[in-house]
Amino acid sequence: MRNKAKIAIIGGGVAGSTTALHLGQLGLDITLFEKEDHISSGPPYCHLHAGGNLYPDISDTQCITLLKQSIDFVRYFPFVVDYRPTVIALPVRYKETPTDLIPRLELLTKEYESLIKKDKANEVLGKSENYYTLYEREALEALKKSPSVQEPKTFDEWMIPVVQNIDLDKVQFPLILVQEYGLNLFRFGSGLELALKNLDSVKLSTRTAIEHITKEKNGWKISSTHNSKKNEMHFDYLINATGFRTGTIDDMVGVSTERMVEFKASYISQWKEKETTLFPEIIFHGERGTPEGMGQFTPYPGGYFQLHGMTDDITLYKDGLSNSTPSSAQPKLESHFLEKLDQKWQEKEINKRTESAIEHLGKFIPAFKQATVASKPLFGAQQIPGTDPTLRVAEVSFPTERYARCEIVKVSSALDMVDAITKDLVTLGYLKEEVLKQRDLNYLKDLKEKEIHHHAQESAQKRAYPTGLARRNVALSK
Ligand SMILES: Cc1cc2nc3c(=O)[nH]c(=O)nc-3n(C[C@H](O)[C@H](O)[C@H](O)COP(=O)(O)OP(=O)(O)OC[C@H]3O[C@@H](n4cnc5c(N)ncnc54)[C@H](O)[C@@H]3O)c2cc1C
Repeated sequence: MRNKAKIAIIGGGVAGSTTALHLGQLGLDITLFEKEDHISSGPPYCHLHAGGNLYPDISDTQCITLLKQSIDFVRYFPFVVDYRPTVIALPVRYKETPTDLIPRLELLTKEYESLIKKDKANEVLGKSENYYTLYEREALEALKKSPSVQEPKTFDEWMIPVVQNIDLDKVQFPLILVQEYGLNLFRFGSGLELALKNLDSVKLSTRTAIEHITKEKNGWKISSTHNSKKNEMHFDYLINATGFRTGTIDDMVGVSTERMVEFKASYISQWKEKETTLFPEIIFHGERGTPEGMGQFTPYPGGYFQLHGMTDDITLYKDGLSNSTPSSAQPKLESHFLEKLDQKWQEKEINKRTESAIEHLGKFIPAFKQATVASKPLFGAQQIPGTDPTLRVAEVSFPTERYARCEIVKVSSALDMVDAITKDLVTLGYLKEEVLKQRDLNYLKDLKEKEIHHHAQESAQKRAYPTGLARRNVALSK
């Protein structure tokens, strides 16, 4: 065995902080550099893609991987999960019918069943036979007359606010209820920050930006800036977890690759009349990049709804996707995106895009048109390795020795990514092979709910978001 490895992780998003926690628990000497004030300050995430049902166009293989990775994610980060289902509705004019989606749902149900057979602890999405449920119009019309339930426990109870609020003439039947849960980014940041502070082997260096990297014989010299003060440190191993800025570190390291980044935003609205109604997430499928692009209605406590609309004047931007070039691994975003990433949104644009999002979802949920703009958007740029913009599963690559380049597209890929990095450290002789079988994040288990809750609320407030966004509707799996 070599000496204890000194590891630099750049970027405190889901990728970097999960890696810091795992490798720190294995006793390695970790420094986690994050240029912002907090962990999880990057692009948002609200949906656990436990089967990829938001993406009818991706392959079965990607969907199965998303299912497996999401189950792992729920097992290790239960405090991040909002345990409410998702309802999928296909608009009447959509190119596909619900029947077209059934073979994939069946495949995913079988896959889930076999994962439970392998390990009972994988049963985190409810019983496999309940992975999805179909609702025909007749059954929905019957439910319409039921009184709404304050704390829905059965699928029928979850469907009551759906059927009472959506325009049933605008969608095809059956509607599909599927066990894809919600994720809370403020609770992730809170839990990871608290856990990392308890770990002596991890030094969390916030407000510290990496500006220069030099290759040395057996490692790296890394130059950082903290409060305008420059510092230099030496490390045995470097992990690049800088999200959409991955290419800037690749350029410093001197490796090239092809990748894309895409700027996207989701909008925060409040529907005061529904402050106490618990909705599932509702998806209205649609063709990406057209005025009928998919609409996503994500509920939070207090009548807050996060909205995505896959059209060019809501979530997407005409010039939002850019590619790396032969001279730089970092795709260049237009300056107006960089201004937004720097928190400089124009109020006029916030209002216009949020109102368009409300209008988009209001086509299917007419009473939702009363909702108002609640805060600035949750937004960011997403990294996509390679040249296929529909790629939804990616983890990590090792383009040169002692260097791991993380490029997760969905947060649930973080644990497979950590496994691959651990394996590389075993190959280099920094860890014993037996650690490959251990993947527990014990420090998360010791966290107190009260602390997670308090810290998450504080973080939302500091970032000028409603504290409702730092809470979840359902804390325990039903
Ligand atoms: C609008 C939108 C909605 C999304 N919704 C979902 C969803 O519902 N579910 C899902 O699974 N995924 C979703 N995603 C994708 C998800 O947000 C990303 O996959 C995930 O956040 C990537 O995490 P990361 O840790 O790789 O990167 P990031 O979270 O971007 O973390 C990188 C960190 O590196 C820091 N950094 C960068 N450069 C430096 C430097 N030089 N020095 C120090 N620090 C540096 C940054 O400040 C940042 O905090 C969404 C993305 C967008 C844009």
